[in-house]
Amino acid sequence: MARLVVVSNRLPLGDNPSGGLVVALEDALRASGGLWVGFSGEPVETPGDALEFHPGARFERASFDLSATDFDAYYLGYSNSVLWPLCHGRADLMRIQPEHLDGYRRVNARIAELLVPHLQPDDRIWVQDYQLFPLASELRRRGVTAPIGHFLHIPFPGPADCAALPNPAELFDWLSQYDLLGFQARRDLSNLTESARQLSRIEPLEGDRIRLCGRDLRAGVFPIGIDTAAFIDEARSAPDEDRMRSLTGAQMMIGVDRLDYSKGIPQRFRAFQLLLEQNPDLHEKISFLQIAPPTRESVEAYRDIREETEHLAGRINGQFATVNWTPIRFIHRPIPRNVLAGLYRQARIGLVTPLADGMNLVAKEYVAAQDVSDPGVLILSRFAGAAETMTEALIINPHDPTELAEAMARAMQMTANERRRRHAVLLRDVSEHDVGWWSAEYLATLG
Ligand code: UDP
Repeated sequence: MARLVVVSNRLPLGDNPSGGLVVALEDALRASGGLWVGFSGEPVETPGDALEFHPGARFERASFDLSATDFDAYYLGYSNSVLWPLCHGRADLMRIQPEHLDGYRRVNARIAELLVPHLQPDDRIWVQDYQLFPLASELRRRGVTAPIGHFLHIPFPGPADCAALPNPAELFDWLSQYDLLGFQARRDLSNLTESARQLSRIEPLEGDRIRLCGRDLRAGVFPIGIDTAAFIDEARSAPDEDRMRSLTGAQMMIGVDRLDYSKGIPQRFRAFQLLLEQNPDLHEKISFLQIAPPTRESVEAYRDIREETEHLAGRINGQFATVNWTPIRFIHRPIPRNVLAGLYRQARIGLVTPLADGMNLVAKEYVAAQDVSDPGVLILSRFAGAAETMTEALIINPHDPTELAEAMARAMQMTANERRRRHAVLLRDVSEHDVGWWSAEYLATLG
């Protein structure tokens, strides 16, 4: 079996609880053996000129360093201040700077340079996510002929958004050098096709084959999953429930998201406010726990979202709290996954309301964590990739506070029979399409 080489922006060295990618790939590599290459995590003054190997995992791990200038341009700049907002439908938040695009190209070229000496003739290479779009073209330029696949964990932009890029045609040139392009959802694959068509960069061929910028490759949908069996065990053995009950015995609604503007956190706070305004009978009966660890805080747009969220939570609590009840508890710290598993299990409602999201693993974790005899209700944004398969959730439009508040009220009233019926269908999907299924399907297609 060909060795698998995974390349991602970040190499998982320590304990990094936030980010679905790490969870997903660690499991995939343990099973097949191989090499995982990624950034060491902290910029350094003088980056080394070779990969640094890190023993101690069941697969080989090797990291590269970045200077502060490269990190700012490639990661904070082009990746997270251009591509991330663009792919999440927020072209208005882009900060386009030519030196950031230069840095993005430069870092991808350097990763290729460092990787080539470690490649073996029959490797297959799996590149992860938007930080590394140009990597295949840089590897090809250095003579690599091995199969190279790309998987995009975030949404792919449609034609209107692609037109806002400083270099729309270049994006498709980069993508054309892969042998397989993998997406989270059908929506993303059709955006690729439409956006490339607008630029006359694509000819559809038979089945999943496309000709992109004159090169033949394949493109498909591979919705990522979680390690469902492990998560079910984690939730079952989670800490004692009674210690966490609120004073009033209110039902818990939970949200778990990096504090990112794409996650729709202010929108869900406003919907919760509307729910409490319209349903005085629910006061002291429902309490909303929002866990939102900080992320990318040196990017301006992320500072704004923190202020907005804290302000809203304060205002809603000021309006409705009683001596025994705090409507919203907002935790701005990462919580370990095993603790999350227990919290999901206790929560009557799992609230997943992004305005745009590649997949959203929290939706799947929430379902896996439920007690099958008395499961909670998942409220899920139609803009999460997860909504394409998790159709037994209460699917909502996160922009509409009335619809969202109604879904919350409906979830509170839903009979145990309906909750069990919906949950059984969701759990089957999350169990059958777990992270092992995802990587096996992708790699079987890459060949
Ligand atoms: N997560 C965590 N602790 C936290 C917040 C999030 O372990 O305090 C984990 C969560 O369990 C999930 C992942 O981070 O596995 C988030 O993945 P998701 O696909 O929902 O969103 P992303 O952060 O990748 O946009």
